[in-house]
Amino acid sequence: MVATVSPSPSATDQGSVASALRRAVFLDRDGVINRPKVVAGKPYPPSSVAEFVLLPGVPEVCRQLKEAGFLLVVATNQPDVGRGRFSQAVVETIHTHMCQVLPIDRVEVCYDPGGTEPPSEFRKPRPGMLRRAATALNIDLSRSWMIGDRWRDIDCGHNAGCTTIFIDYGYNEHLHAKPHFRVPNLVEAARIILMRR
Ligand SMILES: [Mg+2]
Repeated sequence: MVATVSPSPSATDQGSVASALRRAVFLDRDGVINRPKVVAGKPYPPSSVAEFVLLPGVPEVCRQLKEAGFLLVVATNQPDVGRGRFSQAVVETIHTHMCQVLPIDRVEVCYDPGGTEPPSEFRKPRPGMLRRAATALNIDLSRSWMIGDRWRDIDCGHNAGCTTIFIDYGYNEHLHAKPHFRVPNLVEAARIILMRR
């Protein structure tokens, strides 16, 4: 928390602040935007633009959500960079390509390798990436959504105060917190969001 000495806003000010806040859909990357490499029942990230293949319907879903007024923010853990398995430049090249082909407003990446103590506030399941994007883009997290295919995404969404949608691919995945919704793919996730907005 940041301590301030500014006076409390009036009811009118609070109303105008609330209406100025935007809604966002936070998207995990691997398994939500692009097809992951699956090895022994577990998903792994692409290590080049050539391996970055969009899942079916993703451009259309992004367009529909944008037209409905949502900001689109990708929030991705890329611990393999922190672990030295591939370079940050590779990830940045993939993200430049992703933002050229999809109407993404912001990409949040955490390169933390994990296993550090205390854990990074920016590594999912911690909500730091979502909170940083919310500050930068004036997002109301309580009226926003988090979509992911791993328990870390769902817990991150809960920790940020978002509504959560779990894309269930039948991975060898044990959820921690219960998602608000469970769907088979991003197209179904978008359908739920657009029905309830
Ligand atoms: Mg994923």
